[in-house]
Amino acid sequence: MRSHRKYLWFDTPSRRDYINITPDVERELRDSGIREGLCLVNAMHITASVYINDDEPGLLADYDRWLEELAPHEPLSRYRHNNTGEDNGDAHLKRQIMGREVVVAVTDGKLDLGPWEQIFYGEFDGRRRKRVMVKIIGE
Ligand code: ZN
Repeated sequence: MRSHRKYLWFDTPSRRDYINITPDVERELRDSGIREGLCLVNAMHITASVYINDDEPGLLADYDRWLEELAPHEPLSRYRHNNTGEDNGDAHLKRQIMGREVVVAVTDGKLDLGPWEQIFYGEFDGRRRKRVMVKIIGE
């Protein structure tokens, strides 16, 4: 069995962002040379997510509004976590609901995604360097 691991780095200019990382994962799959196997993509930080859904601007705006309704950034005093001196209590909750990782089958050297499925990095506490791991195993 072969194995390929790579970190993708992000430093978003805004606190929250939604980035289609499918081309980056496809590049890692090409570099791996693996034809059949599994591809894991996970956020390495507890205030960011990796998830799969449609790359449609309206949907991305809907996610952002919905997450802000569920866990608004302010008032900061809403979150006991912020008593630690941090201001990212909301980002931990947003990450929980959007998920930590995705696993995609690799078939015939390609990501075996469904129609319209795209892999996204969801950032909820950006403006600093953070990373995503891509690990591909197979043969
Ligand atoms: Zn925190």
